[in-house]
Amino acid sequence: KALFQKNQSDKIAEANAKLQVHESIRLAHIDSLTQCYNRRYLKEQQQHFLQSPYHHKYCFVLDIDHFKQVNDTYGHAFGDKAIQRVAQTLKAVFANAEAQIIRYGGDEFIVWLSSDELMEQHLQKLYERLNPIVVNDDHITNHCTISVGIAKWDGNQSFTKLFEQADQALYEAKKAGRSRYMIHA
Ligand code: GH3
Ligand code: MG
Repeated sequence: KALFQKNQSDKIAEANAKLQVHESIRLAHIDSLTQCYNRRYLKEQQQHFLQSPYHHKYCFVLDIDHFKQVNDTYGHAFGDKAIQRVAQTLKAVFANAEAQIIRYGGDEFIVWLSSDELMEQHLQKLYERLNPIVVNDDHITNHCTISVGIAKWDGNQSFTKLFEQADQALYEAKKAGRSRYMIHA
C-alpha cells in the first residue's frame, strides 16, 4: 500500500510539473496589459495560420488614431485603458470566429481571421463596435478611433508578405484621413 501511495504522489508531482510548464509557456505568449497574444506568439504560430483548413484567411492590422495625443492629454494610465478597451472590443467582435488577436506592440493589433464567410460580415461588426471606442475612467470620457488595413491570403504568399500588404493598407487608411479601413487591392 505504501508503494501504491508513493506512486500516486509521484504521478501527482509529475502532473503538477507539467501544468507549470504549460502555464509558463502560456504566459510567455500573452501580453500582460490586454491578455491578448503577443508578438512572440505571432512569430511562432504564423505558419499554422496559413495551414488552417478554412476557405478564406485574412490579416488585419489595426492602430489607434492619434494615440500619442491621448497619452499627452490624459496621461499614460488613461492611454493604457484605451489599449485595453480596444483589446476587449476585438475579443467581443471576433468571439464566435476562428480568429486570433495579437497585440503587436504599443497601440497596434493584428487579427488573423480564418473564415468560411466573406470578410464583409466581420468588418461591419468590427466597424460598428470600434469607431469610435469610448474610454472612461472616473473623471474622463474620451472617444478614440481606429484605422484598419486588411489583406486577404491568395493561397501562395508568405505570412510576411500578407502582413506587409495589410500594413500597407493601414498606411493608406491613415493617409486618407484615419478612422477607416482599407483592403489591399
Ligand atoms: P497615428 O494616428 O498615425 O497612429 O498616430 P499615433 O499618435 O497613434 O502614432 P503612433 O501609433 O506611432 O503612436 C504610438 C504611441 O503609443 C507612442 C507611444 O508613446 C505610445 N505607447 C506605446 N506603448 C504604450 C503603452 O503600453 N501604453 C501607453 N499608454 N502608450 C503606449
Ligand atoms: Mg497610432
